[in-house]
Amino acid sequence: MYLLQKNFPLKEKNTFGITVLAKDYLSVESETDLPDFFRKNNSAWHQKRLFLGAGSNLLFVSDYKGLVIQPLIMGICLTSENNYEVEVEVGAGVPWDLFVAHCVEKGWHGIENLSLIPGNTGAVPVQNIGAYGVEADSVIKLVKGIDLTTLEKTSFSREACKFEYRSSLFKVQLKEQFMVTSVVFRLSKSPDFKTGYEGLEHKIDQYGKINLQNIRKAIIAIRQSKLPDPAVYGNAGSFFKNPVVPASVAYSLKNSHPELPVYPIGSGVVKLAAGWLIDKAGWKGKSFGKAAVHDKQALVIINKGGASGTEIFRLSELIAEDVLQKFNIHLEREVQIIGA
Ligand SMILES: Cc1cc2nc3c(=O)[nH]c(=O)nc-3n(C[C@H](O)[C@H](O)[C@H](O)COP(=O)(O)OP(=O)(O)OC[C@H]3O[C@@H](n4cnc5c(N)ncnc54)[C@H](O)[C@@H]3O)c2cc1C
Repeated sequence: MYLLQKNFPLKEKNTFGITVLAKDYLSVESETDLPDFFRKNNSAWHQKRLFLGAGSNLLFVSDYKGLVIQPLIMGICLTSENNYEVEVEVGAGVPWDLFVAHCVEKGWHGIENLSLIPGNTGAVPVQNIGAYGVEADSVIKLVKGIDLTTLEKTSFSREACKFEYRSSLFKVQLKEQFMVTSVVFRLSKSPDFKTGYEGLEHKIDQYGKINLQNIRKAIIAIRQSKLPDPAVYGNAGSFFKNPVVPASVAYSLKNSHPELPVYPIGSGVVKLAAGWLIDKAGWKGKSFGKAAVHDKQALVIINKGGASGTEIFRLSELIAEDVLQKFNIHLEREVQIIGA
């Protein structure tokens, strides 16, 4: 069943907690709803549109004068199983961490390091989420959805999804054209723990031996100690991407700032820590109106309560301008800015 609502408040639908309205808001509960709706509503074709998950990677800077479509398709279904692995199909509307908890309970390995990442499963392949040395594309077998140019159901194999760092076919080439309705994951029944991430093994030790449950507990504890809970302070996680620069640029910067962390990632390029640059530029804990840079993690901008999207956006501009001036490094936003 689908439901269309006019002038729909989005405050509860974005983790920044920005008070804005969607001109039209459509919730869909099954994969046939979207084609049905478009066949019956010709005017919808002319509207701009936004597929919405849990709104944990978006910043609304004004009311949205188009059609917001939110898939609320639920269900976790074991579709195949052998001695070594399982395949599980998960509806786009299933909260991601609910699925991670389910897998840990069942003894299915592969996504335990992605515990507590906010958002819904439909956005997982779009964003190619990642954390603590694991990226979602390592466990995705198939992405299913509706292509709005044909209104047909379409599936993409892992190879066809063009996964990249926090990006995919769905985020770039098929943006606002393809709505993910479900994702099929392939998970292992035997352990292949990824505990190399700095400080993770030590944290796991506090809970006992290395197993799925203790990895999940350790990651939740680390995340909770570092990142603000969106229910307390609205935020969208890392606001900026870690800049990737030529090695020559990174090492000349390191000459003047020996403590600068540098992460060579091959082919003469180096990843820098955006949070370090922002912190070093003096922004940690600083406020701009009701927006602020988090006092524990400079990469996160928070809504202290009642901030507008433009206030948060302006703060991000001030930070990026300052980092450019001080270090000659361009910061690119990871959070998607959604305008009118
Ligand atoms: C506190 C916090 C911590 C975070 N930590 C991490 C982290 O460690 N690693 C990480 O990778 N991310 C992290 N994030 C970012 C965010 O959780 C992820 O990007 C998440 O996948 C977004 O999911 P969502 O459902 O909220 O998507 P939304 O923010 O609603 O949408 C994100 C994008 O996906 C598109 N989209 C959403 N659903 C669909 C669909 N069904 N079909 C087609 N397109 C769709 C939207 O149009 C938009 O372009 C964090 C965010 C917060 C608030």
